[in-house]
Amino acid sequence: MTSTIPENLDTVKTALTAAATKWEHPTPTLVAVSKGQPGKKVETALKAGHRVFGENRVQEAEGKWGDLRPEFSDIELHLIGPLQTNKVKNAVALFDVIQTLDRPKLAKALAKEFERSGKTPGLFIQVNTGAEPQKAGILPEDLEGFYKECQGLGLTIMGLMCIPPVGEQPAMHFALLKKLAGELDLDQLSMGMSGDFEIAAGLGATHVRVGTAIFGPRG
Ligand SMILES: *Cc1c(COP(=O)(O)O)cnc(C)c1O
Repeated sequence: MTSTIPENLDTVKTALTAAATKWEHPTPTLVAVSKGQPGKKVETALKAGHRVFGENRVQEAEGKWGDLRPEFSDIELHLIGPLQTNKVKNAVALFDVIQTLDRPKLAKALAKEFERSGKTPGLFIQVNTGAEPQKAGILPEDLEGFYKECQGLGLTIMGLMCIPPVGEQPAMHFALLKKLAGELDLDQLSMGMSGDFEIAAGLGATHVRVGTAIFGPRG
């Protein structure tokens, strides 16, 4: 028998707490990744009391969350996918946290929109820890410069986010992200997905992004 979404949430939370506690870290925030999942499944998670969700596309998120947000005022929505500058206005209006700040052009567009709208979602810088050419994110060697550029634009950065390369040991990348955050005095780390969130929690993640382990395969 397949388990239900509330059961999966419980299982993931228990495993998260166990992994974090073992290494004397606080339990990370569980960002339930609802991209590609129907609204019905999201409502099941909401009814089970979960409030923190991640989406990777602005348009999809607007469609799914536009109606639910007014109903559940304490929802916290994270953008975990790439953000095009022409979607910045909509993203700032909808999301509480944008985890994918990955280039100077986007930093400038966000700063401008923050000023215009008066709304200031939390920001994570996405770091390309594996230096993969096809992957978004700031290269580790460029991070300090980019961070200073963001500060110069008046942006407050909460922490760092990474997506390790497929087929590599994620622990190495999580440890690198933690080291980079420490060098900048940042204490928030978004790392770990369905396959490796316990490893991430053990290495000090403050946010894990878990989709399929909660909702099942994406449609
Ligand atoms: C889809 C996605 C996740 C969730 O992945 P699962 O393997 O389903 O847990 C996490 N982070 C990012 C950036 C994603 O795009």
